[in-house]
Amino acid sequence: MAETKSFIYKICVVGDGGVGKTSMVLRYCEDTFKDNYIMTIGSNFSTKTVELPEHPQFIVKLQLWDLAGQKHFSFVRPPFYRGATGIIYTFDLTRRSSFANMQGWKEEVEKVIGSGKPCVIVGNKTDLANSGNREVGEQEGEALKSEFNAEAYFETSAKENLQISPAFKNLTLAILRASGKI
Ligand code: GDP
Ligand code: MG
Repeated sequence: MAETKSFIYKICVVGDGGVGKTSMVLRYCEDTFKDNYIMTIGSNFSTKTVELPEHPQFIVKLQLWDLAGQKHFSFVRPPFYRGATGIIYTFDLTRRSSFANMQGWKEEVEKVIGSGKPCVIVGNKTDLANSGNREVGEQEGEALKSEFNAEAYFETSAKENLQISPAFKNLTLAILRASGKI
């Protein structure tokens, strides 16, 4: 039997308050969704084993840090970025300001972990965007992906469970590649 190798990676999910960070993590880890908004205080932490059927030799567990997005929590965030192996930059497709703030998030993260760590860009709430509330175009998301040198751009819905696991899986594969494991 082939030897299995286990890895734990720390992933930080960042972006403005209300874009759906907690909802994405909840959907991915517990496959549930809550309509009422419960503001994250400081940070939440969840773990999940990534399904990688094409790489049965690896067991990869993600430690997902979902950080409070509000400005007044900015003083608590830097220590949580320390040791992150990957980042999910998240904005809300129906709120342009959350897209405009992506650069600021990147700077805040890179001050602590430096540049060049694997990352993906996520535009969340496709369900709302597709019912006429879209404020950010798919091409703008793709352009941000190039600008950030990100692995991929995903348009997701935590509510309808669209593209959530692919986003986490894509980042995991990028981390495995970046560390020479695949
Ligand atoms: P956070 O502040 O980034 O952690 O955002 P939350 O996960 O708390 O979500 C903020 C609000 O947006 C909540 O009311 C969620 O129910 C809602 N929400 C999150 N993701 C989606 C989504 O994909 N579609 C829709 N329609 N609502 C969402
Ligand atoms: Mg939250």
